[in-house]
Amino acid sequence: MNSFEEDNLQPLPTHPNQEATEKKIFFPSWNCFCCEDSGFVRSHLVRLVMPTFDWRRDKLPRCSNCNAISTKPNLAKYNIVDKRFSMKLCVKLDKKSREDWALFAKNQQRNVIAQKAQQAAIELAQNKSLRKRDRTPHEDLAQQQKHSYTRKNWDLDLKTEELENEYSS
Ligand SMILES: [Zn+2]
Repeated sequence: MNSFEEDNLQPLPTHPNQEATEKKIFFPSWNCFCCEDSGFVRSHLVRLVMPTFDWRRDKLPRCSNCNAISTKPNLAKYNIVDKRFSMKLCVKLDKKSREDWALFAKNQQRNVIAQKAQQAAIELAQNKSLRKRDRTPHEDLAQQQKHSYTRKNWDLDLKTEELENEYSS
């Protein structure tokens, strides 16, 4: 019991129609996932092919999955471009990166669902604590019977299934 109980207010969402948690799911909008539209294969992808690659030391592999490099015509004179990454390889890296991002998005979604479940559990606990009175002994018994009935049915279903399996094999 705290002294602010009578002052209890509900928070006001800034975007009432949008769940706050839904905003968190992020999926990039690049056209090319090999170079993220930069023209150069992303370092973490390069290292799948060249594990010791260091972008500060080594020439930068150009992306052959898209045309983004053509927007940087001045690069040729600096001799910093590694042209060995074929279209086939870049398509493969693009695919790998898309899969990684899809997995990342899926994990975000899973986290959101977990958060929602947690929130629901908290609300349920709060509702329970708001219960005006405890269950009467009669209500308790009814609840137990309901539970054991469900349990029995479940066991029966399982046995029936076992028998069916036995006879069908
Ligand atoms: Zn690209």
